[in-house]
Amino acid sequence: MSAQPAEHTEALAVVGHFINGREVADANRPAPVTNPATGQVARQVAMASRSTVEDAIAAAQAAFPAWRNTPPLKRARIMFRFKELLEEHAEEIAAAITDEHGKVFDDALGEFQRGVEVVEYACGIPELLKGEFSRNVGPNIDSWSDFQPLGVVAGITPFNFPAMVPMWMYPMAIACGNTFVLKPSEKDPTAPLLCARLLKEAGLPDGVFNVVNGDKEAVDTLLEDSRVQAVSFVGSTAIAEYIYSTGTANGKRVQALGGAKNHAVVMPDADIENAVSALMGAAYGSCGERCMAISVAVCVGDETADKVVGLFEDRVAAMKVGNGRDTANDMGPLVTKAHHDKVRSYVDLGVEEGADLVIDGRGLVVEGHEDGFFLGPCLFDRVTEEMRIYKEEIFGPVLCVVRAESEDEAMRLIDEHEYGNGTCIFTRDGEAARYFADNIQVGMVGINVPLPVPVAYHSFGGWKRSLFGDLYAYGPDSVSFYTRRKTITQRWPSGGVREQAKFTFPSN
Ligand code: NAD
Repeated sequence: MSAQPAEHTEALAVVGHFINGREVADANRPAPVTNPATGQVARQVAMASRSTVEDAIAAAQAAFPAWRNTPPLKRARIMFRFKELLEEHAEEIAAAITDEHGKVFDDALGEFQRGVEVVEYACGIPELLKGEFSRNVGPNIDSWSDFQPLGVVAGITPFNFPAMVPMWMYPMAIACGNTFVLKPSEKDPTAPLLCARLLKEAGLPDGVFNVVNGDKEAVDTLLEDSRVQAVSFVGSTAIAEYIYSTGTANGKRVQALGGAKNHAVVMPDADIENAVSALMGAAYGSCGERCMAISVAVCVGDETADKVVGLFEDRVAAMKVGNGRDTANDMGPLVTKAHHDKVRSYVDLGVEEGADLVIDGRGLVVEGHEDGFFLGPCLFDRVTEEMRIYKEEIFGPVLCVVRAESEDEAMRLIDEHEYGNGTCIFTRDGEAARYFADNIQVGMVGINVPLPVPVAYHSFGGWKRSLFGDLYAYGPDSVSFYTRRKTITQRWPSGGVREQAKFTFPSN
């Protein structure tokens, strides 16, 4: 039986900031946070000024010397306690996600669990930071590499995973010995703040983890302040590119994960019924607002395409769309009115561009929720690569079916697309699957797996314009991103031996 939503602790009138272990009220420049299922403003969120963000950076800077010298095992113990607290409060945080993002409660619990898994990985930090050691690299000379924290690190995150994506960043950054300033999405700010309270309860010293809510002003302050050593960003490609270029121009280490247009290839030999079941969840789960959502199904052969489209028509008719608080629903609303209108305008555009709108969700009315930001599942058939609905990220419940002649043609489409986040292939042919996985120009690949989101002990990242920077999020790459290597070479000369100066380059 699925878990039932719980109330989150209290309705926050204005969601403020969390700086130096304290909640900071800020009524200067509030922005509305809506419940997308009702369309009503549920609370306000503070938009931090430059000086508020500077306070957070200063708190993080002050906490850094003691935290970097805290033994990794002690940092890990705080992570263990944090994980326990997260699990105790899972339903409360998932309910907050549903109320601000709109996703169905069970889906919110699922995202939350994937975030907790990164905390579990961070519990192993003493092992991950052991470093490298070589004895006798020369006569009586030993050498080792340490992985030292960077200092103050910032995270800037999107609306679509308000708990999980921040947890891709701060558990590992903190466990590595850094201090952190998080700037979450202003659209759904409650979950990160609830997590900040739990980190404090877990015993994290004040100032190690700070949250500032805000917009461009807050982000630009983080990008420009010389005390911030590194920036992790997840969001749309336009902003990712801006963050990467501005952050690196200011001398910071930056990883910026961007948008996506993920293709699934359905081969003629695939188990089509199962492939369509998998694609239903991948296309319409979370209302298509996932960076790994499948938004294009490339069907190889007309017969495959006809079967896929026919099955979608039958199954979408049985889907339930409504308030995410009701776990009988399969899909909730889009996050905001503006996003709803943008996605809907893409459906209008697809019709104008000549694609065949086989399933039209535009007429959907959810009884009792007439002001909610609902759009029913949509499916376009006979989409072509020149169309904007194919080229651009829509980020809603809109699946485009493209018909291809062969696996090679399907792969060419994927390789030529500007994004390269995730992709998958449905087939029973091992050779076709291996060829696909070996050659496709995409960072995360599924074989009969529609959402190949790597587990916490691997790393997450796309190729092409889905990632700016060199290192992926969480997993082993996060140790590299949140530390810098220091290599020490040591020799203790024997007492009494007189040595001559040598002018040649040291070698063995
Ligand atoms: P967004 O780019 O609008 O916002 C992301 C963050 O950037 C937010 O914190 C926002 O406040 C900030 N921001 C927005 N405009 C800014 C500006 N002009 N200057 C400075 N900061 C700014 O993204 P979103 O709409 O919140 O999230 C959806 C996008 O995120 C989609 O494109 C989706 O594909 C992407 N995403 C990617 C991944 C991934 O791993 N690649 C994961 C999740 C989401």
